[in-house]
Amino acid sequence: MKNGKAFPIPVKAKYSCEKCPAYCCSYPEIEVTPRDIERLARHFSLDYEQAEERLTKYDAKEKVRLLRHQKDRVFDSVCALLDQKTRRCSVYHARPGVCREYPDSNRCGYYEFLKFERAHQDDPHFIALT
Ligand code: SF4
Ligand code: SF4
Repeated sequence: MKNGKAFPIPVKAKYSCEKCPAYCCSYPEIEVTPRDIERLARHFSLDYEQAEERLTKYDAKEKVRLLRHQKDRVFDSVCALLDQKTRRCSVYHARPGVCREYPDSNRCGYYEFLKFERAHQDDPHFIALT
């Protein structure tokens, strides 16, 4: 620290989304806020109500709005915005806040599970189902 200024310590992620079939996007309750819906509406050139209707559903029990799901070939279902071919988010730059924050540390619990199962099966491509 030659100039006496502190600098941020780089945090190296201990997970690789490249090697993962997108477990986090299979979570059934991905909550969205009005701000998320506005961003998605802009991305798809829709108005707010159209984006809300097409991309989200209301969970009356929990009183929250969630991303819609689609049937998936790996998991039972995944977020409707996941590209099933690439296993990547199709709206990456417009994705909801909760997707930006996850996993909120340098470790991802799903990835730890995947790594453990792949080592256990001695198969680097094995996809363990939760
Ligand atoms: S589950 Fe973890 S490793 Fe997999 S895509 Fe999501 S954040 Fe990345
Ligand atoms: S919006 Fe993108 S990152 Fe978020 S759950 Fe859907 S596919 Fe995954």
